[in-house]
Amino acid sequence: MKELINPKENIYFVISAFISILFYLVLVVSIVGIVYILILVLITWLAQGFLTAQIKANAVKISSKQFPDVYLAATKLAEKMEMKEMPDIYVMQAGGLLNAFATRFLSRDFVLIYSDVFELAYNAGGNALDFIICHELAHIGRRHIQNRWIVYPAFFIPFLGTAYSRACEYTCDNFGAHFVPKGCVEGLMMLSVGTKLYKDADVEEVVKQSMEGGMFLWLYEITSTHPILTKRIRAVKERQ
Ligand SMILES: [Zn+2]
Repeated sequence: MKELINPKENIYFVISAFISILFYLVLVVSIVGIVYILILVLITWLAQGFLTAQIKANAVKISSKQFPDVYLAATKLAEKMEMKEMPDIYVMQAGGLLNAFATRFLSRDFVLIYSDVFELAYNAGGNALDFIICHELAHIGRRHIQNRWIVYPAFFIPFLGTAYSRACEYTCDNFGAHFVPKGCVEGLMMLSVGTKLYKDADVEEVVKQSMEGGMFLWLYEITSTHPILTKRIRAVKERQ
């Protein structure tokens, strides 16, 4: 599975971790910095706790009795990806937003899928949904969430943290394209043009569109945590 890891991910991780360790060392040496670290840990812990509580309070947890086919597919994916533990997967209504993300609280991993993308991908036959789940499982399997604190200070260095984040996204797309080749383009096209038009959109035209350049497009990309969607679609298409 090593070949699925975007080479830039490891490079940017090492650079980011090095800068972050220096940053933490400066804070610890300055004594008062320890207080800042403790405040940051407390704020992060509270934010994650509330987010997890919001998920548990409002979302539906997938299980062997709740959307059992999705649960079975996710379990098989986690096995294939050699994950030690299956995270809890939830579905939540989010006012039409098309998104999914992984999070972690008290050593427990969670995947949250917004209901519009879940519903559409589910009705479309499962491949796109499996791709979306596989992408999020890859974030957990690659410890992107668990190791976030190691690279967090690097996000204050312009373009560095976002470059690392984009490399992580490409890695997770690679895992999705490898384990669910039939759902990767469909899954990303849904995120791009929405729940109805994705079937009619011409993927080859999107691939051509991804070749377009320009200063503002470049600036937009280097300041974003996610790669440009058209480029993600091209990348997974090339892996099919
Ligand atoms: Zn992602």
